Formats: sequence, C-alpha cells, structure tokens
Amino acid sequence: MRPDDLLRPTPDGLYCPPGDFHIDPVKPVARALVTHGHADHARPGNEAVLATRQTLEIMAIRYGDNFAGARQAAAFGETITINGVTVSFHPAGHVLGSAQIAVEKNGLRIVASGDYKRRADPTCAAFEPVPCDVFITEATFALPVFRHPEQRTEIRKLIASTRQFPERAHLVGAYALGKAQRVIRLLRDEGYDAPIYIHGALKKLCDYYASQGIDLGELRPATLERGNKGNFAGAVIVGPPSTFADRWARRFPDPVSCFASGWMQVRQRARQRGVELPLVISDHCDWDELTETIDDLAPSEVWVTHGREEALVRWCSLKGLPARPLHLVGYEDENED
Ligand SMILES: [Zn+2]
Repeated sequence: MRPDDLLRPTPDGLYCPPGDFHIDPVKPVARALVTHGHADHARPGNEAVLATRQTLEIMAIRYGDNFAGARQAAAFGETITINGVTVSFHPAGHVLGSAQIAVEKNGLRIVASGDYKRRADPTCAAFEPVPCDVFITEATFALPVFRHPEQRTEIRKLIASTRQFPERAHLVGAYALGKAQRVIRLLRDEGYDAPIYIHGALKKLCDYYASQGIDLGELRPATLERGNKGNFAGAVIVGPPSTFADRWARRFPDPVSCFASGWMQVRQRARQRGVELPLVISDHCDWDELTETIDDLAPSEVWVTHGREEALVRWCSLKGLPARPLHLVGYEDENED
C-alpha cells in the first residue's frame, strides 16, 4: 500500500479512502477524527466525531452540545478499527486534550500530528513520539530564525513589570484555549499568587481546565464597575487578543499591553499590534523542535502542512529524506497559536 492510498490531502482536509474518514476536516463530513479543540481544526456540523474525551468536551463548550451527531471518545493509546483501518490517539503537547492521530493498515503507519510542541507545558500531556513510516508535521514556525526562548524567562519579565509599574494594569493577550491557561499556570509556578483577572470569554475554558485538575489559583472576573478602577493597579488581566482593541481594555488604569504568542519574536508584529511587553510563549514547535522531532522519529517520509512548508521540506531533502508540502487550506497560523 502506498502512503497516498491510506491518507491524502483533499480540499476538505486529510482523507483516508479505505477508512472513509477525514482528519480535522475544514467542512462538515460524515466521519471526522479531530486532533484538538482549536477552531481551525475542530469545527461543528460533522455527522460523527472521534476525538479524545477532553477535545469532545472542549468542542461542546465552544459550540454547544449539538456540535456533532454521534461522538466517540478515544483514550490515549487505545486502538480503534474503522472499516479495516486501525487508528490511535497519542498526546501532542499542544493544548489540553490535543492528540496526534496514527493511521495504520497493512503494516503502513502514518502519524498526523496536528499542532504540537515538545517543551514542557504544565497544562497538558507531553508529546509522545510515535514511530511511523510517514510523519505529517505542522510548519507554523518552520524557519531557522524561529527559536522560542525559555517560557520561564518570559513569565519572569511579566512579573518584573508588575513590580516595576505597580500603578499600571497588565493586560495579557492570550488565546482562549490553551495559551490563557498556560500563562496563568506558569505565573503560579513562578510564585505569582495574587488573584488573576480574566475576561468573561475565558471563564468557561478556565473552569474546564480547573475541573481537569489544572489548578489556576484564584481567578476573578475582569469587570470594571464605577469606582473600582484602582483595584486593577498592578494587576494581571488575561483576555483574548481580539478584546484588546475594545473599550473594555482602555478603561483599565494606564494599561501595559502584553501579548503571549510565538509571533512576538517578530518585532514588527509586536509593534503593529501596539504591544509594549511581548511574551514569546508558543504552543507550536520552533525550528529546533521540528527538526529534532523528525530526527527522533526517523520516518521514511515527511509531509509538511500549514505554515512555512518550504524550508522544512528543503531541510529534509538535504538529508536525503523524501518530503513534500501538502498545501492543505483552511488552517490558520495566527488566530490561535
Ligand atoms: Zn492548535
């Protein structure tokens, strides 16, 4: 069996012809296998969804209980057979519930890793290398210039700023699923034990993380009422980046605008967004993590998707490793990273 006969790119997403299922389809399909809950990978309206329990629960939080017809939870490592194709889910280290999906038939195994990262994240299970013939990797930060700093260094910058500017609110832009909870948890790990204020749009997912055993400490609603503006002096307020242009954000006392994203290592992007304190914290691999992962797995072929495919394809080719870009469409590299 050739790899293309087992899994192939289509306009609707990756499709497995013998199993008759899609992985992270961008349009509603009959049977979807979903790697994680970010909006560009997990969409509502599929007839049947197979995903980890946490991804299913996150989809229900985001889209409502009717996000799909039938649903089935896959435990990490469990093998499930669909029309003669064996599939299994393995931790991807990206956000809570995130999984790589291994697809296997006639001794050929392809791993679709979805979005993933290799460094420690106290809010989700660590990436697990799965030996495979074909490894499908993302390429969000697949350029040698992308090297993410230590997350602890970035968090300490934020804490130092709250001490340096005790009269100013610190508004931290962080994506609602994963990044926000990770930033909060990392603050706690660095000993920051003051209440952290959250925008209403983060509440359900923060509550969900807490229900899954990820202690986020005391969270309070970041609601401005007449006369309480002073309460936010020196405070850390976390909200989705999209809310920072709203009037909501401008009402806090002399806010320091912060943004937690891998893209913050591009100074121009930080400037364009008016970010005063960029925090380079990414839920994706940097260049070294991508290339080390491919070295670790030593697959016989690499398929590269959504991001800067060309540099990684070229890096593989120089090593004599067959690689190709998949040119899948519909996956964002900036909305939720
Ligand atoms: Zn993602």
